[in-house]
Amino acid sequence: MAKPAPIKPAALLKLPAFGCRRLKDNFLLTNDWGFHDFLSPEEFSSFTKGAIPVDSRLWLRLRQKGFIRDHLEFEDLARSWKEKHSFLWEAPSLHILVLTLRCNQACSYCQSASVKTDPRRYDMTWRTARAAIDMAFCSPSPDLSIEFQGGEPLLNWPVLKRAVEYGLAKNRGAGKNLRFALVSNFSLLDREKADFLVARRASLCTSLDGPGPIHDLNRACPSNGSHGLSVGWIKELTRLYKQRRKPGEPACRPSALATITARTLPHAQDVVDEYARLGLRSIFLRPLSPFGRARRVWREIGYEPAQFLSFYSQALDRILEHNRRGKRLSEKTAEILLSKILGQDNGRYMDMRSPCGAAIGQLAYNHDGDVYTCDEGRMLACAGDKIFRLGNVFSDSYRNLVCATGAKACAWSSNLECHPLCLRCAYRPYCGTCPVYNYQTQGSIWGVMPSNGRCAIYKGVFDILFERIQRPGDLEIFKNWLADRRW
Ligand code: SF4
Ligand code: SF4
Repeated sequence: MAKPAPIKPAALLKLPAFGCRRLKDNFLLTNDWGFHDFLSPEEFSSFTKGAIPVDSRLWLRLRQKGFIRDHLEFEDLARSWKEKHSFLWEAPSLHILVLTLRCNQACSYCQSASVKTDPRRYDMTWRTARAAIDMAFCSPSPDLSIEFQGGEPLLNWPVLKRAVEYGLAKNRGAGKNLRFALVSNFSLLDREKADFLVARRASLCTSLDGPGPIHDLNRACPSNGSHGLSVGWIKELTRLYKQRRKPGEPACRPSALATITARTLPHAQDVVDEYARLGLRSIFLRPLSPFGRARRVWREIGYEPAQFLSFYSQALDRILEHNRRGKRLSEKTAEILLSKILGQDNGRYMDMRSPCGAAIGQLAYNHDGDVYTCDEGRMLACAGDKIFRLGNVFSDSYRNLVCATGAKACAWSSNLECHPLCLRCAYRPYCGTCPVYNYQTQGSIWGVMPSNGRCAIYKGVFDILFERIQRPGDLEIFKNWLADRRW
């Protein structure tokens, strides 16, 4: 029998900084360059003692991923790090125009501080919309996404339509990669509006909380048909996009997201099946945030992070089951996190990057022209607290807005390297924290991670995903999601 190769002295095998987490059967290693590996308990013990035989398969694998300190390929690692953090060199590309605070629905968890009254007081005027678009074009970013939100933005259709036409005309000189997006309950769509938006390839997103009884319970509508209206328009818009698609153009289709309340928790499979039934290609399972109306009725519709994670795990299993049967259906949070874990994502999702996108990746323009770090910061202002206000489109320059104290405070406080627990967390290379959530729930933009609900949810979601990617069949499905990912 061949003698085992001698182990080189531990002192020769030095370890760089790394994160580790005990999963069910093994240990997860991660590092600042975003690489990860799984080690058995025996391998992990050798690794921490610096006793992995040099040139063994494990040693070579770890060396390639930057886990052996004396063998770091700095140029390759720096290139990979820079690619994953390219957002640090970019300017705000997402500009959210809150066209009105009015809404025709009364969702149990509404975070938008929507109201029912007086259009003159709560709608964005054309003068303000034009100033907001002019401000958006001041951003040096070559990509501009102008997103219309509310309330229900379709209640202010004349301004929305004019804003799209103005943006397109302005872009003839600017030559940016300009896109429009609408976040709406779809209930006020009609043929003219749908044609206008589809012809301009606007990205259209709505809420769909599951089958009729669940959706209508969460999202009350005066005419009692909230689910029917959403589903009807999802089908019609899918048909229109398909019909109008020109040869060579990438496919475009409406998308939807599901906000999970306590009422949804027992129905993970039904929610997923509803999306599969409608032929939607992705589902965004969003945990409830204790903001706005949801905060007031939290005892009725809120839950603990562990309850959401149990729901999420069941839903993800059901989604994977649909994929195994040949249906292409992905989950958006998983897609965002997996693109960081398995790919070279450069942080286009504003809420899961470090620092987060507040003011440095996005700006939100309220109906009155006030500008905020993001829509969540703007919502807080509607409840009377303007801490995330950066300025106003009429009285401040673009430079004033992006250099405002609030912008700097958010960038600083959402940098995970400034948080003691995050600094040691294995998920830091892929994670992000939210100053607005921290401020709302814990009274400081810094947040206290050991008792932070958002941190608990994401940590759990990372656990679920890192467990799943060890199964070859599931990994294959995840890679397929990333291969035809569209933003
Ligand atoms: S927020 Fe939580 S999960 Fe994310 S890096 Fe910090 S400690 Fe880890
Ligand atoms: S403050 Fe929160 S909501 Fe606003 S951009 Fe940052 S992570 Fe997103």
